[in-house]
Amino acid sequence: MCGRGQLFWVVGRNLKCSRGKQAPRWISSKWFRYGFLLFFMTMFGTMVFNTYLVFAGTGTLKKAIKLFWTFGVPWKWAYTGSLFPDWVAQFAFGFYSLMLTSTLLGFIVMFLYKERTWCTFCPMGTMTQGICKWKNAGKMEEKEYE
Ligand code: SF4
Repeated sequence: MCGRGQLFWVVGRNLKCSRGKQAPRWISSKWFRYGFLLFFMTMFGTMVFNTYLVFAGTGTLKKAIKLFWTFGVPWKWAYTGSLFPDWVAQFAFGFYSLMLTSTLLGFIVMFLYKERTWCTFCPMGTMTQGICKWKNAGKMEEKEYE
């Protein structure tokens, strides 16, 4: 049901924008997937903290989108104020930065390798897989006791 996975499939496979090459093995290795998850969650936490700073009045709203956690792209034209307080807008700018960056990363690996290479190290996918493993481990333990 994930729209991003479908997007890479449609653009990569149907529109033939993917080279279809095998990705290097390290991309699907445990250390890389969990390392990327940790990095992503740290960046998510930073984004939430920046939102809190604006909420608490110690930070000001930055009307910029940060691509690849490095390049600040001015995005002032997209926001001229709203009914909501500034911290809501700060959250939106931060969240949009994160989502746009990860989508661009997904497109880069889609082009270089197979269509859904992003899915092999997608933080959401890694977490979902972890939950499934954890649940299955519980079921295995239950079976052992039966
Ligand atoms: S791994 Fe991530 S991008 Fe891929 S389908 Fe799952 S949630 Fe979507």
